[in-house]
Amino acid sequence: MNILVLNTGSSSVKFQVIETNLELIEKNADRKIASGLIDRIGSESIITFRVHETGAAFKQTAPIRDHKIAVDKIIKWIVSKEANLNTIKSLNDIHAVGHRVVHGGETLTSSVLLDDAVIREIEDCIELAPLHNPANLKGIYAVQEIFGKGIKQAAVFDTAFHHTIPDYAYLYAIPYQLYRRYKIRRYGFHGTSHRYVAYRYRTINQIAKEKVNLITLHLGNGCSICAIKNGKSFDTSMGMTPLEGLVMGTRSGDLDPAIIQFLTLKEGYSLAEVETIFNKQSGLLGISGLTNDMRELIAEADEHDDRRAKLAIEIFCYRVRKYIGAYTAAMGGIDGIVFTGGIGENSDRIRQKVCEGLDWFGVKMDQNANKNLNAGKEGKFSASDSKVALWVIPTNEELLIARDTVRCIEKITKN
Ligand code: ADP
Repeated sequence: MNILVLNTGSSSVKFQVIETNLELIEKNADRKIASGLIDRIGSESIITFRVHETGAAFKQTAPIRDHKIAVDKIIKWIVSKEANLNTIKSLNDIHAVGHRVVHGGETLTSSVLLDDAVIREIEDCIELAPLHNPANLKGIYAVQEIFGKGIKQAAVFDTAFHHTIPDYAYLYAIPYQLYRRYKIRRYGFHGTSHRYVAYRYRTINQIAKEKVNLITLHLGNGCSICAIKNGKSFDTSMGMTPLEGLVMGTRSGDLDPAIIQFLTLKEGYSLAEVETIFNKQSGLLGISGLTNDMRELIAEADEHDDRRAKLAIEIFCYRVRKYIGAYTAAMGGIDGIVFTGGIGENSDRIRQKVCEGLDWFGVKMDQNANKNLNAGKEGKFSASDSKVALWVIPTNEELLIARDTVRCIEKITKN
């Protein structure tokens, strides 16, 4: 089956076309056919398309008004003579569409084929993810319009993997009726990424799912950590929204909620302005005053010995270590730590800094192995006598979305 995977953001649409079916999943032989991105929807958009069979790349700019036009442009390109894909010549050769949907709330706890009732449930979750779910829905509506309602579409939720978190870990210690009334609780995000790397870890190491006791670290622009106990998400650092937890590119992560009122009084900010500061002007960017980009921060620290760049890196790594300690205690011990995401996959420096303080519970790094594991490589970098295995596993959320779409069509449930 050729699956179109769509990841629709507020002003962008990312896609991949992946050939997969139950047999290819079993053999881990799924095939990425094409991919691309339309960025800056609503103004002069930047369009980047790639054919994986030939390596051909297409780049252009064009005014693209909305998501429907963006999805239409992507689909027209996929079937075009310009793309010239071997196996896709018309709309009929795109067999189903898998969507990344950020919030599934308390009811959408696994990947699901879309029908009117499910779409309504996703719409009901807009309140919980006002920045993300409306954009995801635009992708879904666009596909319905372009293909007609007959096309099979599946939704794969960022929150779904975390539905196994126990109540004592997902509830905030605020009046219980606020949870009952508004569903205020920890949901967690990046679930598809945590689930994918946990799956890879157990496949490579040939461990049964129930025996997987891991900490997975998704360190990208957004960052989250997940405690995986007996193969299931047991706790995670992002909360009701993706703002909680680790220090991120522009998000603060954990802070004292009393700071909100303090800032409104001292600076005269509105509540919306405070939230924007915590989401868009904090984290690595806020501390360094320079950039949200870890690569640039490391360069600033090295080349100019910039004090605040160094401080931002220090705070980032310290927060990760603190969470690893907390989750190790909460789980009663771990077998491994997996790094993924742009920073986790590419920066041996950050991996080393995170692991440096962890020798107290038997984490020992192999320095050379760590240095050799960048730029998309998968591998182990713990020393042979380390009690805890250290791994880099590049994430692949799109592949999991394509596979789940196939499983939904074949009626196989997996989480
Ligand atoms: P997103 O969460 O938006 O998908 P990514 O997972 O691509 O983002 O991660 C982006 C982050 O990864 C940026 O901070 C970037 O600087 C960082 N990164 C990428 N390559 C490196 C590298 N070689 N060294 C350090 N950081 C890197």
